[in-house]
Amino acid sequence: MGEKGEAFVTLTTNDAYVLGSLVLAESLRRVGTKRRLVVMITNEISETLKHNLHTVFDDVHVVDLLSSEDFKNLQLLGRPDLHVTFTKLHCWNLTQYSKCVFLDADTLVIQNVDDMFEREEFSAAPDSGWPDCFNSGVFVFKPNVDTYKSLLQFAATQGTFDGGDQGLLNRYFNTWPTNDIKTHLPFTYNVVSRPFYSYPSGLKAFKQNIKIVHFIGADKPWQHPYNYSSGVVTPLPDSRHDAEFLQYWWNIFIDSVQPTLNPSAEGLIGRLAALSVDNPVDSSIMPLEEIQNLDVKLKKNCEEGR
Ligand code: UDP
Ligand code: MN
Repeated sequence: MGEKGEAFVTLTTNDAYVLGSLVLAESLRRVGTKRRLVVMITNEISETLKHNLHTVFDDVHVVDLLSSEDFKNLQLLGRPDLHVTFTKLHCWNLTQYSKCVFLDADTLVIQNVDDMFEREEFSAAPDSGWPDCFNSGVFVFKPNVDTYKSLLQFAATQGTFDGGDQGLLNRYFNTWPTNDIKTHLPFTYNVVSRPFYSYPSGLKAFKQNIKIVHFIGADKPWQHPYNYSSGVVTPLPDSRHDAEFLQYWWNIFIDSVQPTLNPSAEGLIGRLAALSVDNPVDSSIMPLEEIQNLDVKLKKNCEEGR
């Protein structure tokens, strides 16, 4: 199998994360990737953004937020909140590809990373919080329906120690810490954007080597105030995201994504689309009630077993 069978894959289950996936795709194009770009979406995504995704990604793959079979397992676990985790696992069903790299929608590619396809399943970079675990925002995998089923089975019996996909995948691919150093991606392939403790000196020394930045945590780049006139993003007061990385995300967003958004869209997307010289001040921070509405929608889908 050559390059055709290889793809970068991301996931978005709501309109806000679509913004991340569009910037991510654009960042991959800018570094001249030769691989295909795939996004997994759920039916929660609005029609106008689906259109945006189709123009940027080679393959838009609709997956169930939660299939009824998964739902039964989750009920057994008493953990219906794991739906998003399970959605990520759908990547193992993309068997039209021989090998893939999964990237969270809150990652940003700075330099070409096509060499990742030389690695085998399961390759990932150490987690900055607990380096004996890998971070599950960036990983190399081989689609295989049996792996998908066995991951679901594993989740139903073992669960996940952090309530997310990272805990599950680390338990499942549990030989990662010790078996084969080639499955350890360099940290520069998944650099956390929040400097802490010993981090600033490393960041300074190795900044030119960084290939992928990951905006982990509750506040994502699209929630930070941006001023269209000055072209500058101001990190939120409580955010510890590196200002330079945030700025890079916004530069790509304003150059390539914002002009393609539909100004008549509702909520966050409409407000971002409306940014202009005449309306320069950012209003991108998602109002709390919008976030809560998303949660209510997800919970309802879970209860209906979707
Ligand atoms: N995700 C999604 N919808 C959600 C939450 C997460 O589509 O409501 C996807 C998205 O690709 C995201 C990934 O799951 O990047 C992991 O979540 P997140 O990046 O928020 O976790 P963190 O990296 O902050 O731990
Ligand atoms: Mn992430």
